Amino acid sequence: MKYFNLHTHNHFCDGKEAPEAYVKRAIELGFHTLGFSSHAPVPFENKFAIREERLDEYFQTIRALKLKYKDQINILLSLEIDYIPGITRDFPEFVRAGDLDYTIGGVHLIKKIGVEELWFIDGPWQERFDEGIQKLFRGHGRHGVEAYYNQVLEMIATQKPDIIAHFDKIKMHNKNRYFSEEEGWYKDLVWKTLKYIAAETNCIVEVNTRGLYKKRAETYFPSPEILGQVHHLKIPVTLNSDAHHPDELDKYFPEAIEMIQDIGFRELVYFEGKTRTLQKL
Ligand SMILES: [Zn+2]
Ligand SMILES: [Zn+2]
Repeated sequence: MKYFNLHTHNHFCDGKEAPEAYVKRAIELGFHTLGFSSHAPVPFENKFAIREERLDEYFQTIRALKLKYKDQINILLSLEIDYIPGITRDFPEFVRAGDLDYTIGGVHLIKKIGVEELWFIDGPWQERFDEGIQKLFRGHGRHGVEAYYNQVLEMIATQKPDIIAHFDKIKMHNKNRYFSEEEGWYKDLVWKTLKYIAAETNCIVEVNTRGLYKKRAETYFPSPEILGQVHHLKIPVTLNSDAHHPDELDKYFPEAIEMIQDIGFRELVYFEGKTRTLQKL
């Protein structure tokens, strides 16, 4: 089976190499499609997103690669766009600016109403996760998790991303300390979010392998249990590694495909240009 990857980061944001290095590696690996999805600019000091003044250069660079390699691989232009209510720009603005092929929506920073400081739930630092949950939610796991899934739900409802990034990322630094994914209220929150996706949107949920190969999570985002519900609700899925280095382009893909098939999925979604296309498993 030929692979694809729609979620990658390069040196325009927090990825490690120039975009062309990813194209060359993807061709070596026999990929049919490679999507670029650098973190979209955010209006505050940070070390992870494309700088506003380099956004056009990013668009032009990926478009030039699309042309240069068009006979070897299907290259797509996207952004992983943060949703922070009242702070980030609406997704359609980025789609228009870059004529993007698709969008990936992700929540990495949680906003609590009336509090200026944001809670950063991603990255390698467990201490920053702990600091945020203490400061914004006084260590109340449930309140922090509710804020996360509410923000994800609001992103889906208002921004309509094509792909929802790492659905249950909130579990990553928790390590069973502030909440348990086995608790009823947690399962209800996940189920409510998934039911909304199924009923009101045509969003794709990605299976993201990054937590596993970075050894920051014990399983995929989302976990196989949640993916069972995704399947039950007939929500389409795709498979990404969220690569920040060319060598990460296919990490855990064989294992993930086996797991996805075991759950019962028979196809993955990818894009040909802006068109959703199914790949049989
Ligand atoms: Zn992300
Ligand atoms: Zn990402």
